[in-house]
Amino acid sequence: MKKAVVIGSGPAGLTAGIRLAEGGWDVTVLEQQAGPGGNLRSWTREGHTIDNCLHWLNGTREGSSLNRLWRSLGVLGDGVGVVRSPFFYRSHLAGSTLTMWRDPDRTEAELSEKSPRDARAVRRFFHAARTLAYGSPFARAAAVARWYRVSVGDFADSLYDRDLGVFFSDYLGREYATLGLLFAYSAFLSGDADLPAGGSPGVAERMAEKFAAAGGKLICSVRVTGIVVKNGRAEAVLTDRGDAFDADRVIAACDPHVTFSRLLPREYAPQALERTDHDPRTPRFSSLHAAFSLPSPFPPGAAWTNVIAGDKAKLPERTGGRVILRSFAHEPGFAPEGKTVLQAICFLSDADAGTWLARGADYAEKKAAFVESVEGAIKEAFPYSAPRAIDAWTPATYLRYTSADRGDYIGWLLPSGVIPPRLPERVKGLSNVSLASGWCRMPGGLPTAARSGARAAADILIRDPAPRSFPGVTPPGRGKSKKRRKFDLPS
Ligand SMILES: Cc1cc2nc3c(=O)[nH]c(=O)nc-3n(C[C@H](O)[C@H](O)[C@H](O)COP(=O)(O)OP(=O)(O)OC[C@H]3O[C@@H](n4cnc5c(N)ncnc54)[C@H](O)[C@@H]3O)c2cc1C
Repeated sequence: MKKAVVIGSGPAGLTAGIRLAEGGWDVTVLEQQAGPGGNLRSWTREGHTIDNCLHWLNGTREGSSLNRLWRSLGVLGDGVGVVRSPFFYRSHLAGSTLTMWRDPDRTEAELSEKSPRDARAVRRFFHAARTLAYGSPFARAAAVARWYRVSVGDFADSLYDRDLGVFFSDYLGREYATLGLLFAYSAFLSGDADLPAGGSPGVAERMAEKFAAAGGKLICSVRVTGIVVKNGRAEAVLTDRGDAFDADRVIAACDPHVTFSRLLPREYAPQALERTDHDPRTPRFSSLHAAFSLPSPFPPGAAWTNVIAGDKAKLPERTGGRVILRSFAHEPGFAPEGKTVLQAICFLSDADAGTWLARGADYAEKKAAFVESVEGAIKEAFPYSAPRAIDAWTPATYLRYTSADRGDYIGWLLPSGVIPPRLPERVKGLSNVSLASGWCRMPGGLPTAARSGARAAADILIRDPAPRSFPGVTPPGRGKSKKRRKFDLPS
């Protein structure tokens, strides 16, 4: 049986592992954390589950190729429920709220009523959202071309009503491409960006189970320290425990920065990685987080995703004084009886992220001040909520747990007017090493990670089918049908 070693058990690594194990390979996934899931991993504080990842999962609508991919990985299907919130997010503004409802007609009507002078711009935005959700490929391409160069900040500034400007820039931030917001909202309105029941921990657990059921081996709490290369091939994978795993194929499913700075000589790094790293137009994605325990019943106005005002002087500059809150009242199992969890997120500029990563002497003090400021904002927005802080984490935390460069966690921020870079799954110059990662393509996220893992595995299975028969599996190019085996490759 041919052997594959996968470095990292995030969604990319687990996807590659599942696919290869199902294809008859002997697969070992090595993970430095104590459990699988990468950024999907959750943790508990005082009996509360902190869901680190999922704001939404693209691919929840049945019938799409992404949905088929998630089903094949055990993430969706088989009785897994999908949680659908009535709105994408809600902005709390001085004396009023504005809501991005699932229904674009309702949202458009409410926003136009709030600012009749902005009705035309608002109509254009929602026309594009509907087009991206339901339009023909031609109409979609035209919408992409029309919005390609417009950042969220540009769009917000073009509006007469200041509140509307804040509303449109509240969720993804001003630097993001409006197209990114449009893609996210159009997926949401069409029911393709909802939440699998059980949240991030549920997804991680089901993927790990699927991998184990396919015969894969997962070894946690072991850090890969290097890949031994000889004659243009990887010969073995070394770990901090002193083990050497030999492998016919190696898939590096950690951040490519880790791969090309610590595991392999830099000369193998794809040019696209070097380019985006030094391109100021492709900033990175990191943030500050805090979690709070709230007594249940939960203040109804705080349900789902809300953006509230905080103290501008005390919050990171990039937030413009806004705090994104996610409630988990829809997951009663995430908190002890009579309690619920509320998580806060504040995006950081590259410069601010750098100061958190430096972990200066005032790190703990700064973290406490951040928590206090967010707690004050929650009390102000929801006076009867009585939040109690249970945890806070920063880019330094992500760096410690996932090793991802600069503690980033979602590939690159999607800016306007930039053609997304793409890292090839094959590593040039090494015949048996592949990449699989959410960092392989902009804008990253779970679909990018899983597709990248599926592509890396498909590439191996197509090029290098193991020379034996596999129960229930027809290797590519074999069997009765002359058709190529179908993989969930990006369309
Ligand atoms: C707060 C937050 C919110 C998010 N929200 C969403 C969302 O709503 N929707 C969405 O689609 N995506 C979201 N994401 C992004 C998503 O989690 C990532 O895109 C995805 O996890 C990337 O998957 P990956 O497998 O490439 O990398 P990771 O998940 O980072 O996994 C890489 C794994 O490699 C391991 N590793 C690294 N180096 C080594 C080594 N030397 N040896 C062994 N193991 C190693 C790490 O420990 C880690 O487990 C969010 C992420 C965060 C943190």
